[in-house]
Amino acid sequence: MNAPLPAGVLADRDELARRLSRETEGEVLFDAASRGRYATDASIYQIMPVGVFVPKTPADVAIALQVAREMGAPVLPRGGGTSQCGQTTGAALVIDFSKHLRRLLELDLDAQQAVVEPGMVLDHLNAQLKAHGLWYPVDVSTSAQATLGGMAGNNSCGSRSIAYGNMVHNVERIAAWTSDGSELDFGPLDTLGAKERDIAEFVRGLAQALAPEIDAHWPTVMRRVAGYNLDIFRPKSERPYTADGSVNLAHLLVGAEGTLAMSRSLTLRLAPLPKHKVLGVVNFARFHTAMDSAQHIVKLSPTAVELVDRTMIELARANPAFRTVIETALIAQRGQSPDAILLVEFSGEDRAVLLKQLQSLVELMGDLGLPGSVVEMPDEAAQKALWEVRKAGLNIMMSLKGDGKPVSFIEDCAVPLEHLAEYTDALTEVFARHGTRGTWYAHASVGTLHVRPILDMRRDGAARMRAIAEEAAALVRKYRGAYSGEHGDGLCRGEWIRWQFGPKIDDAFRVIKQRLDPGNVFNPGKIVDPPKMDDARLFRFPQGYRTIPLKPVLDWSAWNVQNDPVTEATTAPGTGGDSTGGLAKAVEMCNNNGHCRKFDAGTMCPSYRVTRDEQHLTRGRANTLRLALSGQLEGEALDGEAVKAALDLCVSCKGCKRDCPTGVDMARMKIEATAAYKSRHGYTLRDKLIAHLPRYARLASALPWLFNLRNEVPALARWAERTLGFAAARSLPRWRHDTLRREAPRYGLVDAAQALAAQKSVVLWVDTFNGHFETENARDAVRVLQAAGYAVHVPGLQGEPLCCGRTYLATGMPDRARASAGALVAALAPFAARGIAIVGLEPSCLLSLRDEALVMGLGEAAKTVAAHALTFEEFLAREAMAGRFAPPLQPATRPIKVHGHCHQKAFGVVQPVLEVLRLIPGAKPELIESSCCGMAGSFGYEAEHHAVSMQMAELALLPAVRAAGDAWIVADSASCRHQIADGAQREALHVARVLAAHLER
Ligand SMILES: Cc1cc2nc3c(=O)[nH]c(=O)nc-3n(C[C@H](O)[C@H](O)[C@H](O)COP(=O)(O)OP(=O)(O)OC[C@H]3O[C@@H](n4cnc5c(N)ncnc54)[C@H](O)[C@@H]3O)c2cc1C
Ligand code: SF4
Ligand code: SF4
Repeated sequence: MNAPLPAGVLADRDELARRLSRETEGEVLFDAASRGRYATDASIYQIMPVGVFVPKTPADVAIALQVAREMGAPVLPRGGGTSQCGQTTGAALVIDFSKHLRRLLELDLDAQQAVVEPGMVLDHLNAQLKAHGLWYPVDVSTSAQATLGGMAGNNSCGSRSIAYGNMVHNVERIAAWTSDGSELDFGPLDTLGAKERDIAEFVRGLAQALAPEIDAHWPTVMRRVAGYNLDIFRPKSERPYTADGSVNLAHLLVGAEGTLAMSRSLTLRLAPLPKHKVLGVVNFARFHTAMDSAQHIVKLSPTAVELVDRTMIELARANPAFRTVIETALIAQRGQSPDAILLVEFSGEDRAVLLKQLQSLVELMGDLGLPGSVVEMPDEAAQKALWEVRKAGLNIMMSLKGDGKPVSFIEDCAVPLEHLAEYTDALTEVFARHGTRGTWYAHASVGTLHVRPILDMRRDGAARMRAIAEEAAALVRKYRGAYSGEHGDGLCRGEWIRWQFGPKIDDAFRVIKQRLDPGNVFNPGKIVDPPKMDDARLFRFPQGYRTIPLKPVLDWSAWNVQNDPVTEATTAPGTGGDSTGGLAKAVEMCNNNGHCRKFDAGTMCPSYRVTRDEQHLTRGRANTLRLALSGQLEGEALDGEAVKAALDLCVSCKGCKRDCPTGVDMARMKIEATAAYKSRHGYTLRDKLIAHLPRYARLASALPWLFNLRNEVPALARWAERTLGFAAARSLPRWRHDTLRREAPRYGLVDAAQALAAQKSVVLWVDTFNGHFETENARDAVRVLQAAGYAVHVPGLQGEPLCCGRTYLATGMPDRARASAGALVAALAPFAARGIAIVGLEPSCLLSLRDEALVMGLGEAAKTVAAHALTFEEFLAREAMAGRFAPPLQPATRPIKVHGHCHQKAFGVVQPVLEVLRLIPGAKPELIESSCCGMAGSFGYEAEHHAVSMQMAELALLPAVRAAGDAWIVADSASCRHQIADGAQREALHVARVLAAHLER
């Protein structure tokens, strides 16, 4: 599957690991799964590294470099691993800078410079700069996960590069280790020390000798990132690298992809944050006209000109979440979407000037024969919403199911703007000739349009990739553009460097490499002596890629499909030929883009946020599963220890189901992995206690004093931790005698027949937790519903309890879960069939009717129930909107803060909580921006997870609760309420209780 290690690469991996462990403080990860997690980036490639080293300090890096050099191991520095060309994959010792080496070292506000460690993420830097009115303006789309070391390594470029340039234009100095262990300081020529000056003179000599070659072959577009920046001594970029035209040796390292030196710190040139922005959205009936207009629009000095083509517009229109926003940008053309829109942004200090520029755009389009084609968007909130749609469009495109995937290999060729229209037309024809199609988007301002033809690398994709690449290259040459204009060379474009620059300059790159890294220690095979782009031994999915046979416990057939590269239509579920019934293909939806490393709003991925470990990240988990399912984990499969370890801290929050661009649903995958592991290794007593809780709850509530003893007697709690594994530091939910079954007769409920006959009825399904531990929630929900005139039926008050089966799924007992969910579905189906809403109080239990219950083989009844299953607040919001729910409520007297449960967020049903709370006169409920509370079912109660659980809660939720004063804290899930009580000593309430408290008496 993988290419053999290059000649000379070390033989004694164990000794390398031993020495690193002995001589450094860093983490040494040499097991198969860890190496596998670092074998890929966002490209199509996969190379197993020799090992992975996560340094704690810069000193660790220096020692690791020395040890690796002494032992003949190459070294590959890595940031977020989001590269698209394979430059972050290699048979080397991977050094991950992103976990610990991520500090802002210095900030000089007067000079507008920041010194950062290479592992710092761009968004994290900008968050610190914002208060000072500054930012680092190389705004890559991956800003939430790309590190500044990686950005420098790739000479990254942002959407606003037309105004600010690429990395090379914004790096002032780089302090770096060279392969002999020296620490050099690369910067402006007149500041260099002796060693650095020698290097500069050497490179200058090469540039001078090659002046005619450089003049003849060097692309003059700004977006040229291939090879080494030999042109620092013979400037060729449209935009000079320095303001005064002087030479800065740090620029030689920018774009070097970690092949020349390994950066220790970077000095960055900051820019003032623009005070104002205005946007003009130009609508085009023809794509060609849009491309042709870009050259004229840029003369108005915009800060961005970004393309969105018809396919993306249609995708956004088809998505209810984006339809309204995209339509604000469109000019109706007989109901048709325009063929393309250009988002033209002007930003700066003076709003009046910007508005004039916007008018100039309107006039220009009139002059170009397109009067009335501009939607003016002076409002920044509207602009922000539209930029989000532009990003989401790509995500929807990437979520195509089947083995054909949009492949990045010519997605950033840059051509001069006057040729952009011809180039895009010609490339579209190339795609058609090769039986595929491209969706175009992004940086029209600088002639760098992203486009990814759909190719199936497991079948004929490699051959088609090469053919398309060759034809695209010929076009780039014809239009005197740059083949590599944004994402670097890596494995994908390395072989094109010689083609682009000619043999003499390519040889000079080799000479530069030999001068700085004579032992070929740093990232071998990138830029110099690269492999062929279609060397199948380097592919993640080579021809003939196989998965192991496996029968999953859930139905994954929706992923088991193939697609048509031109129409993107998919075959029927179950026809994709997946030996694992679709599970493997669902796992393979992870394209390694690293979006799950983000820390901003959203839930994904709480375990990464507290550990910063690749292993505890959605991407790391998906890679582990992929390797296990394809037999690449040294014999370990889904039921092995490596998979168990990778999923151990996954709290099944479903954050990834919603936030991952391709919808990787790790919570559902964990059900498979847990079932496989437990069925092989057996169930612990704790598993059984958790799993069967709904069954013994009735008994426990009969003797609550006995079952609560563990909470009363510290010695018992310690004993339970030792023997059962429940954290002694944690209180367990309190058993009580007044359960729902005992209390319900007082509630004035109707029976099943009455509910079916009533004009206005609702089924309130009360889960085990609300029914046994927090009866008040059920009581108040009934009161609220009755106050609004509903006949309320609560099923399951006799006989076996009605449970969704979550406790069984969580502990690896899918058969019991199926039986339990099946009984629930059977009980609810008659009501659903009559169109009566099934309302639940615990979000995760209710929403499992719309999620897991649909893939457990429960047939049509499950679908009928799912179609009518609503959270309590969803139901009330819907009814209020229809004018059917208007209970008499007293005015609010206290603020209200709402914490959304992860599954509410995953299903987009947090807003209804706010909507129903707004029915309270004067109430202004506010959402607490938080990820997972960390309790997550039984996770937070488990001794080995207690600390991580509390760390998750402390990330945002608990500080916000502590700062909430006398506000009502609303949390609809029992887990979140328990975590808030334990961590902040505050009572949080279900929304039903807050509404009931406001009912007029
Ligand atoms: C969906 C998507 C969108 C993207 N959008 C953009 C975009 O808008 N603009 C853009 O330019 N790119 C984009 N990229 C590519 C990629 O995100 C950027 O190049 C990013 O800057 C890489 O950062 P990273 O931390 O992931 O670096 P990595 O991928 O980890 O590393 C990049 C290179 O830098 C080297 N490197 C890392 N650390 C060091 C160090 N300490 N010393 C020396 N070398 C080092 C590595 O060896 C590697 O060669 C996109 C990628 C994806 C998947
Ligand atoms: S899990 Fe999703 S967000 Fe994370 S890398 Fe994979 S595709 Fe990207
Ligand atoms: S379910 Fe939650 S914890 Fe698990 S991988 Fe997804 S986001 Fe991370």
